Amino acid sequence: MFKFERSVEKMVESKKYLAGGVASSLRASMKPTPLFVEKAEGSRVEDVDGNLYIDYLLAYGPLILGHAHPKLTGNIHQSMQKGYTYGLQHQGEIDLARRITELLPSADSVSLSGSGTEAVMLALRLARAHTGKRKVVRFHGHFHGWSDSIFTAFLTPDMTQDISQQDEVSISPGTGGQSEKSLEDVILLPWNDVEALESTLDEHGHEIAAVISEPVMCNNGCIIPKTGYLEKMRELTSKQGIVMILDEVITGFRFGPGGAQERLGVTPDLTTIGKAMGGGIAISGVAGRRELMQLVESGEVNHLGTLNGNPVSTAAALTVIEELVRNDGAAFLRMDDLTDELVQGIRACLKKYRIPGLINHLGPVFHMMFIEETEVRDFATFQKRDAAKYTEFAAILLEEGVLVRPSGLWYISAVHDRQDVLETLDTVERALRRLAAEST
Ligand code: PLP
Repeated sequence: MFKFERSVEKMVESKKYLAGGVASSLRASMKPTPLFVEKAEGSRVEDVDGNLYIDYLLAYGPLILGHAHPKLTGNIHQSMQKGYTYGLQHQGEIDLARRITELLPSADSVSLSGSGTEAVMLALRLARAHTGKRKVVRFHGHFHGWSDSIFTAFLTPDMTQDISQQDEVSISPGTGGQSEKSLEDVILLPWNDVEALESTLDEHGHEIAAVISEPVMCNNGCIIPKTGYLEKMRELTSKQGIVMILDEVITGFRFGPGGAQERLGVTPDLTTIGKAMGGGIAISGVAGRRELMQLVESGEVNHLGTLNGNPVSTAAALTVIEELVRNDGAAFLRMDDLTDELVQGIRACLKKYRIPGLINHLGPVFHMMFIEETEVRDFATFQKRDAAKYTEFAAILLEEGVLVRPSGLWYISAVHDRQDVLETLDTVERALRRLAAEST
């Protein structure tokens, strides 16, 4: 019997009623089929066919405490018993906002929303309102949500060329139905390229409101900033009165209590956070300098959202944060150590089977790719990877009980343990052996 038979049947049923059969387009790409889940606990997921998986997808990032974490579940229940949402203020919002200001270096105050996309929208508005300028610099391969004003295609025709040789390149919308006009204010640059940034800011600084960047390019290749790159971004933006936004939707409350900005030692003007912060419950935030956040207080920038700051989401976020930071942030150290062990093990397997490939990693997140190059420090090089081969590898892992994102990005949670890692390394070894045999 086909191992994923019921998932396949469910997909057919789902497509009759749910557009595309999935609730977020990205989920359709899983091979051999998008999985339907029966239940999940800790680091493990069970699908409707009764298959068990060690989960490194972690719902695309939020599940930093794994599935159905007892304390988180308990606190959510407790909070729900007092009502789910009020459209009024409550202590949980204050406690959460205060905690974020204590932990995140760039945060004087905070605004709460429901998704990373919304947080980025607000951050861009604050930057434009503050500076009175319109243009925004963003970078190839970074993802900042799917709102019209910032969503660009990952694979523009330019990206198949060597974009490191170009300062500024044309932009394609990220989706059908998006007006090209909405991207008129966006300048797209190669990342990790000081000269490109410097010359663009020299030429257009007078019309640029913000530079937005993931601190580590987690969405495509987990590429780490070159030494001094973010510092230079900070220096240049400060000099020109441009708002520097670090999009820490992935790295916030994952790279450490103070996110990537604390780990890398660069403090932006505004920070967007989401994913891990809610542990799987919808919540996001913008945190930043008082001068900028003041625009929300004065009403110059509207910050709206029916469910913003609801008590269930604030209770969840407070629980996640306290679980992560207790015992001097031991959870972060554990996640980092386990990730190191897993990464070293997979690298050793690649070497053993002479499969060209590499892993970029920082904190409890890494990107594995099949590629001839020995290092990947920019998006142009990342584009040379064999994505189809990786999708095949991910499908083999799935068959063998390890759930990973078909693109190559792995997340490790605070509830993964050594047993998970050892089992995973066995599975990876079998999968790579199979790939090596197929290619001879
Ligand atoms: N920013 C970054 C860096 C992200 O990775 C994502 C989502 O993956 C977003 C923003 C958008 O967040 P959401 O999917 O919650 O809207």
